[in-house]
Amino acid sequence: MFDALTLNLVMVILSFVYFLMSIIIYRVRKEKYLLYYLMTFLSLTFTYILLFFQKNFPDWISFIFTNFLVLLSQLFVVIGVRVLYSLKPIAKRFFAYIVIAIIFLHYFTYIDFSLNARIIVVSLIMAIILFDLIYISIINKKNVHKSINNIILSISLISSVVWLSRVVFTFNTIVSEMYLVDQGFSTGIYYIVAMITISIWFSLFIWIETTQSVIKLEEKNTELSKLALIDNLTKLANRHYFDHDIAFLIAITNRNKSKLSMLMVDLDRFKLVNDTYGHLVGDEVLIQSSQILRDSVRMSDRIYRWGGEEFVIIIPETSNEQAGLVAEKICQNFRNAKFNVIGNITVSIGVASYDKDEPLEDWFKRVDLALYQAKQTGRDRWVSWLDDEALPQHFNRFVWTKDLESGNREIDQDHMLLASQVNKLHDLIINSYPIDTIYESIDTLTKHIREHFVREEAIILSKGFVNYMEHRSIHNRLLSEYEIILKKAMNGDISLAAFMSFLVEKVLINHINEDDKQFFSVVK
Ligand code: GH3
Ligand code: MG
Ligand code: MG
Repeated sequence: MFDALTLNLVMVILSFVYFLMSIIIYRVRKEKYLLYYLMTFLSLTFTYILLFFQKNFPDWISFIFTNFLVLLSQLFVVIGVRVLYSLKPIAKRFFAYIVIAIIFLHYFTYIDFSLNARIIVVSLIMAIILFDLIYISIINKKNVHKSINNIILSISLISSVVWLSRVVFTFNTIVSEMYLVDQGFSTGIYYIVAMITISIWFSLFIWIETTQSVIKLEEKNTELSKLALIDNLTKLANRHYFDHDIAFLIAITNRNKSKLSMLMVDLDRFKLVNDTYGHLVGDEVLIQSSQILRDSVRMSDRIYRWGGEEFVIIIPETSNEQAGLVAEKICQNFRNAKFNVIGNITVSIGVASYDKDEPLEDWFKRVDLALYQAKQTGRDRWVSWLDDEALPQHFNRFVWTKDLESGNREIDQDHMLLASQVNKLHDLIINSYPIDTIYESIDTLTKHIREHFVREEAIILSKGFVNYMEHRSIHNRLLSEYEIILKKAMNGDISLAAFMSFLVEKVLINHINEDDKQFFSVVK
């Protein structure tokens, strides 16, 4: 049907066209590995040109050099891929492959002439080169994107199977014609396989390029969306904007020794709005809420949509106290506002002003704890982080009274031990013991509080106290609050007296009276 010369001509054209296309792609992409890749198609073009004139050239060109070019074209693929994997382009063993091939080709041409042996040698070495490629793409798979690695692996596997089957096929037939172009049917097969293989390798290259472009585009996209600083729904600044602003605002505040306050505003029972009226109405409420916030603060204040139905407002040059006034105004404006569909909605707000040199996350924790208090104590209100200066500067010994007893032995023992440790601490401070001794005693106490919380949680869980989860989260909040206050006392930002009054009032008396009493009847 097709004679070998025509097929050979098709191969010359195919490799040359692939070569030209690679050049065009290289000029656009300028990736170094592409340079090796296009050498593949160049050497293949030469190979097929030589095959045309196989009969006219001396044997070392017709058989040895031509086969060498075939091996070289495959090696260029491997080198290109190695560059893609950020490896050294050439490995020493590549020379060994070439030298071994030439020795065998020489032997089966000049010493013991065998066409079959030559085909087997070349096909085997081609397979080895491909296994080499499979090996490096497996051990270096982390260096490229997963999908690129998969593509390279599968194509190398397919090609190596093709070459190995050629070995098997050659073992079982006797190739009688010296020159490829005279070899009848088997040549047709050879050419078709060659066409498929070279096309597959070319598509590999297009694949990699497309995949890489897509990956790069995706990376750029994430980068860009990070840069997007405005929330789409409310058109307020978003969290990224906050990250971008806050360091600068803190630096200015520290430098000017001025005040910086933060409000965290959370819509009350917003989930109910979504559940009752649907998300679209919910979104509408968010948009209207953002407008109320804008109208409630000054131009110099900054509002961020923190996420969901939470907003953060940063108010420069404003103390805790003044920020409370802003919070009150916001609560008031929400109460007075008329929302479409839902009528009205209230907000809860946490307020805290920045303490010099405090880590951002501590400031946040304080605002968050204040917000939590606002929610806990009934919503539609604002709570300001207790002004450190407002913490009482006097504290008394803790007096254990009968009504603090839960009736559970373990819990009561723990509570009494806590009380005695607090009193011991009281005595150390009153009698001006060395600060190290006082800190040591605080350490023991802190450890005990933690352990007690864990023990108490286990007990109320085993007794089936229904509000177990809630009690646990109260413990966690109390601990964070305690830790922040303790840190401030250690840093000397607040007095030990203020710390002690917090400890006695909030951690002991209030917590036992208000929270623990809820489970007394259960644990008796
Ligand atoms: P709480 O008073 O304790 O704050 O109650 P809540 O229902 O407001 O609290 P929660 O944080 O459980 O619910 C927040 C809800 O906000 C959950 C989610 O359905 C909704 N939400 C978050 N983001 C969006 C948004 O972009 N659009 C809409 N429509 N709803 C949102
Ligand atoms: Mg919320
Ligand atoms: Mg909410």
